[in-house]
Amino acid sequence: STDPRYAPGRVVRSPHGATLHCRNWLIEAAWRMIQNNLDPEVAEHPEHLVVYGGMGRAARDWACFDQILATLRELGEDETLLVQSGKPVGVFRTHVDAPRVLIANSNLVPKWATWEHFNELDRKGLMMFGQMTAGSWIYIGSQGIVQGTYETFTACADRHFGGHAARRWILTGGLGGMGGAQPLAATMAGFSMLAVECDETRVDLRLKTHYLDRKAASLDEALALLDTARAEGRVLSVGLVGNAADVFEEIARLGVKPDVVTDQTSAHDPIHGYLPQGWTLQQWRERQRSDPQSIIEPAKRSMANQVRAMLALQRAGAAVFDYGNNIRQMAHDAGVIDAFAFPGFVPAYIRPLFCRGYGPFRWVALSGDPKDIHRSDAKVKELIPDDRHLHNWLDLARHRITFQGLPARICWLGPKDRYRVGLAFNEMVRHGELHAPIVIGRDHLDTGSVASPNRETEAMRDGSDAVSDWPLLNALLNTASGATWVSFHHGGGVGMGYSQHAGQVIVCDGTDGAARRIARVLFNDPASGVMRHADAGYEEALATAREIGLRLPMHDA
Ligand code: NAD
Repeated sequence: STDPRYAPGRVVRSPHGATLHCRNWLIEAAWRMIQNNLDPEVAEHPEHLVVYGGMGRAARDWACFDQILATLRELGEDETLLVQSGKPVGVFRTHVDAPRVLIANSNLVPKWATWEHFNELDRKGLMMFGQMTAGSWIYIGSQGIVQGTYETFTACADRHFGGHAARRWILTGGLGGMGGAQPLAATMAGFSMLAVECDETRVDLRLKTHYLDRKAASLDEALALLDTARAEGRVLSVGLVGNAADVFEEIARLGVKPDVVTDQTSAHDPIHGYLPQGWTLQQWRERQRSDPQSIIEPAKRSMANQVRAMLALQRAGAAVFDYGNNIRQMAHDAGVIDAFAFPGFVPAYIRPLFCRGYGPFRWVALSGDPKDIHRSDAKVKELIPDDRHLHNWLDLARHRITFQGLPARICWLGPKDRYRVGLAFNEMVRHGELHAPIVIGRDHLDTGSVASPNRETEAMRDGSDAVSDWPLLNALLNTASGATWVSFHHGGGVGMGYSQHAGQVIVCDGTDGAARRIARVLFNDPASGVMRHADAGYEEALATAREIGLRLPMHDA
């Protein structure tokens, strides 16, 4: 192959254990985590460097990947590696409390921030799509999204069904890197689910990892399986191989009534993310190589059909929401004028959590030892003894989550708890209670780190949906506070032109220096989200700001 991004047969896995390969654990953590992102258990298409989310990559091409690893192995304790859209471009002397890696992915000057322009640069090898945690090296497989999806479905059950999901079912599309978490999160939250996925290998992978219960050969069989489960009072998730647009249309036509409808195909990317109706997978993949532009129109037309079916199901009484893939925008572009008649999941369910500074806190055991995660789970419960919802999640996760790559855990925490948990993990590393350091990170989908008007910042109270000063300030604050690596990306989740967002990762290596950095970063990072929502006028955020002693000059006076 002459494609510098394709290495058929190449397998990358992160080393496990307590032996250092780099100068210190901060550098080692970045070195291991980029490799972990491409572990075949973690990444969707590792031979293409694709981690998840359409074409979200870990490095620009294989030569860049190898050079990132080589540079990290040499990096000094007071040096910082700069990565520009997946390419290692410079090493600078900074200081020991500075980030060891600074990453900028897929950023374009706003007027040029289109898929068309990006794809041209991508083809020339000048850019890479970083998604959110693909290009910032803190993707942990589908588990990363299970908790967020569980929170969303739980909030949905509270809002529409008095907290009772029993006998209710969700219709969705897409079982990819993120979407694959939906069936597990649904059954954890007490719902049954029908998930339509066009690529059978994705369905089979979710069966293998126990995220999905059954595969059906036809819509009839899928509906029969769901009926039987409902009659027997069981929850069940069923995967159906098909085109989501076809199946959603059919369900609406038949008058079948799901209780909840959403979708997680990669609709944000009309070339690589959404199979047009009537096409085979093979045709689609060939066309991606031979004539990518020609896919956009038929893909958007199919998305429009799917959204029309979603609108029909909403009129028939289903709770319908956009699950952050920009499908409403695509359908709107293709002429569905009422595409935004159903809400995005953030204003519908997640914003109250963001106002309190809650978001997806995650950590990874560099030892590779699952026991390290089990010990850390117990520590979180000990530190936060009276949060029943959190304990319930940790218990379910312990029994239902299969680790992928380095063992990891996710749970949503706020500014009062993130730094306490981080400091406690650091102490556990210091005292040898864990077999190697812990890496703490988060999704870019968090309270203070993203501007995305069709998703995280949809319908902000003060109309500031598109203001991206906030994620920029978040990235700068995390850099100043001493996160181990900090990233700033464009286009994650919803595609080019629609979002800007920041990531941070911090390492607990058991030292005093780490403790000082953790105390700053893991408070400041979520607290900046409280600031952002307080500034937009949310009462809950203002109350949280007072509670955590956040200084907001325009409100303190
Ligand atoms: P992915 O590319 O790994 O998976 C998408 C899946 O959709 C693939 O398996 C693909 O085969 C399938 N698909 C494509 N077209 C289809 C069609 N017409 N019918 C049925 N299946 C089809 O992407 P992902 O990581 O799973 O993310 C999915 C979407 O969700 C993305 O747009 C992403 O940005 C968004 N997302 C949302 C959240 C959130 O919190 N709500 C988080 C992350 C990602």
